Amino acid sequence: MMGTMTGTAAMLFYSVGFLIFVLGLVFGSFLNVVIYRAPLEKSIIRPRSFCPACRTPIAFYDNIPVLSFILLKGKCRACGAKIPFVYPLVEILTGLSFFLSFYFFGLSWKALELAVLLAVSIAVTVIDLKHRIIPDEINIFLFVFAVFLPKDIWNVSYLAGVGLSSLSGLASGLVLFLIAVAAEKIFKQEAMGMGDVKLITALGAFFGFQSIFWLIFISSLIGSVVGIAVKIRKKEKGYTMIAFGPYLCGAAIIYMLFEPNLKPLF
Ligand SMILES: [Zn+2]
Repeated sequence: MMGTMTGTAAMLFYSVGFLIFVLGLVFGSFLNVVIYRAPLEKSIIRPRSFCPACRTPIAFYDNIPVLSFILLKGKCRACGAKIPFVYPLVEILTGLSFFLSFYFFGLSWKALELAVLLAVSIAVTVIDLKHRIIPDEINIFLFVFAVFLPKDIWNVSYLAGVGLSSLSGLASGLVLFLIAVAAEKIFKQEAMGMGDVKLITALGAFFGFQSIFWLIFISSLIGSVVGIAVKIRKKEKGYTMIAFGPYLCGAAIIYMLFEPNLKPLF
């Protein structure tokens, strides 16, 4: 597609792409607030951002995505406390996610879907690795977004699609809930958190019920490979609880990109 573009068209394409990248950086900055506050059950809207070390509010000119981190050399202007590298990393990853969504799908619903899915995946991964939870706010947001999105997976009217999406999500959550209960009975240990069940509920609404068998299959596969690798490196024995959210997100991204080539598993 790129090869056939004339010079002006390409310039326009990359100008819009750059703006979308910047929009992603700004959204990533908001994601950092969600990542920091949602697990602590703090309001995402108020108060303004402050340094976790000295509580000094952060001025707007010190809150510019990525740029401020570089200018401040990764330290708080007031107290000199180190700003974790994960902050600019989240911003850059979100910027790239937005740009790639536009690059692959142009200005379309599909691009918005992918951008949202990638942004949610970034937040879920950082939070789940750190706190071993997936905040309800994120799952509820993804579910509502999925339900009300104009979609072509069902060949029905918009309102019927909203209904089918909701039902798909709830059925998906129920299936994973039953798997979680069964696994707990068998392994006598919590194998899956309720956060994972809620995430599957949102993903089931996003992709439709039949997708969840692929999602469970792919995420288990990635989870096993990573789990075994970590175990070998740490020379651990026995069962260790792993954060499953990031694998579910990884599976969702793979599913979205390869969906046209995948046959229903059931
Ligand atoms: Zn400080």
